[in-house]
Amino acid sequence: LANRAFHPEDSIIDVSGVKVGGNNLTLIAGPCSVESKEQVIEIARSIKKSGAHMLRGGAYKPRTSPYSFQGMGTQGLDILVAAKEETGLPIVSELMGEKYIDEFNDKVDLVQIGARNMQNFDLLKEVGRRIKKPVLLKRGLSNTYEEWIMSAEYIMANGNPNVILCERGIRTFETYTRNTLDLQAIPVIKRLTHLPIIIDPSHAGGKWWLVDPMAKAAVVAGADGLMIEVHNDPECALCDGPQSLKPEKYDDLIQDIKQIIKITDKT
Ligand code: PEP
Ligand code: MN
Repeated sequence: LANRAFHPEDSIIDVSGVKVGGNNLTLIAGPCSVESKEQVIEIARSIKKSGAHMLRGGAYKPRTSPYSFQGMGTQGLDILVAAKEETGLPIVSELMGEKYIDEFNDKVDLVQIGARNMQNFDLLKEVGRRIKKPVLLKRGLSNTYEEWIMSAEYIMANGNPNVILCERGIRTFETYTRNTLDLQAIPVIKRLTHLPIIIDPSHAGGKWWLVDPMAKAAVVAGADGLMIEVHNDPECALCDGPQSLKPEKYDDLIQDIKQIIKITDKT
């Protein structure tokens, strides 16, 4: 179903009015985790001013350690909903398990499946059957293109055709960076599938100063969008502070990207 051979045109996915794919460059930004209403509203207002189209924020977090902050749960989603009411930005958040499906159908505009759940096949089947919103499927930490596309097939074959792929860096032998951004994923996915692909340079590099150059490279390579972590106080962030941009830095980046897309086919 994802195969380009049977669907030559690019798919354009409508996320509560925001079109992803085709000639659109979709900008998603926000904190790794929802921490408070003040935090999210402040960040949402500033990214909107910079030109972002959607607000991201984790409410249920897939943390490596069970002793790390696990997210605000329902309360976190309600804060995102409040930020959407305030700014009009559709919201993106990660679905960690089947038991949250009804809540996500009610509150979230774009349902993220995280890297760690990319091959949680029972979850993918339920997402295909029951999630009524578009799905953002992140590439697993060590998964091939074929495995990633097959995970998209699980969702599509079970009834939800609205899948957006997200490359977020893969594990390599290099340990200096958190992961290695696979820019080749952009042309490869476009060749093999008709689905939009967006890039998450924040989780790829794990360092805030890598976000700007990698985001720009992704746009030039033909990405359909960027998902970037932005925090108003990265030093005190409860999750992923070192890779988060301050709102001013995000604004600088987006202004540069608006210049770059004049020489690409994106708008
Ligand atoms: C995230 O987007 O906050 C996240 C946890 O990403 P990933 O699943 O790519 O690690
Ligand atoms: Mn994160």
